[in-house]
Amino acid sequence: MTDAGALLSINAIEVMYARLALVLRSLTLSVPPQGIVALLGANGAGKTTTMKAVANLLRSERGEVTRGSIHYDGARIDRLDACDLAARGLSLVMEGRHCFNALTVEDNLKVGAFSRRDGAAAVAASLELVYRYFPRLRERRLSAAGLLSGGEQQMCAIGRALMARPRMILLDEPSMGLAPLLVEEIFTIIRTLNREEGVTFLLAEQNASVALRYATYGYLIETGRVVREGAAADLMADPEIRTSYLGLDASARRDEAGPGPRRRARWLS
Ligand code: ATP
Repeated sequence: MTDAGALLSINAIEVMYARLALVLRSLTLSVPPQGIVALLGANGAGKTTTMKAVANLLRSERGEVTRGSIHYDGARIDRLDACDLAARGLSLVMEGRHCFNALTVEDNLKVGAFSRRDGAAAVAASLELVYRYFPRLRERRLSAAGLLSGGEQQMCAIGRALMARPRMILLDEPSMGLAPLLVEEIFTIIRTLNREEGVTFLLAEQNASVALRYATYGYLIETGRVVREGAAADLMADPEIRTSYLGLDASARRDEAGPGPRRRARWLS
């Protein structure tokens, strides 16, 4: 069963690596148009595998979708390659940023427009748009990407994805390795891109506390299965999620109930 109103729907997929390791088990999720959906889970839960299954990048790792289907914008996409997906407006930003270190920031961004056929003026307008959302990239536009800080590299990777004019971005662990203030800055930009440009996001995150503040809906996966799903506010209020994923223990919950709440939020990544 696919979710007819969804932009992306993953329907009961099973993923195996090397025909031996069953990593995703009947995983179903959907992302509405213009939504921000969080895919949450600990190390090794299957978040990256889910992203790679959508982007059809499993084959190089001897992985395959052995059951179920993936639909995007009304069409089945399990057999499409990255170029076809980009042409349909679906972009992936992999975990770990993956900028071309020897190229300048601006050249990295231009690489993102590689498959566009709408002319130099339209590409220049997109570059301007990326610089408007990421002023730090404008400042660093002539620097080699390898010299950027981790946060700037994450911005460069998101900016490069934007240069393809995506309708939807799959963003794997945007907070990884970044200081809390930078994480907030990047998530704020994600929210602004969602509201102002209508970009839909599926965010894979270990950092549930930040992801649930910016997403509207979330899925929690454990060993390749969805174990909880719901509106972000409901997940944040779920006692088990608060204890196990938000690092709010029982005493912190008691503190919150009384006067002068004293949160003990813990960054998980
Ligand atoms: P992390 O945040 O650490 O990246 P994750 O939730 O993204 O975790 P995955 O990277 O999708 O998890 O890994 C899910 C499971 O699949 C893990 O048990 C992992 O060891 C296994 N796995 C990932 N890639 C491969 C591979 N190429 N071959 C075999 N097993 C793999």
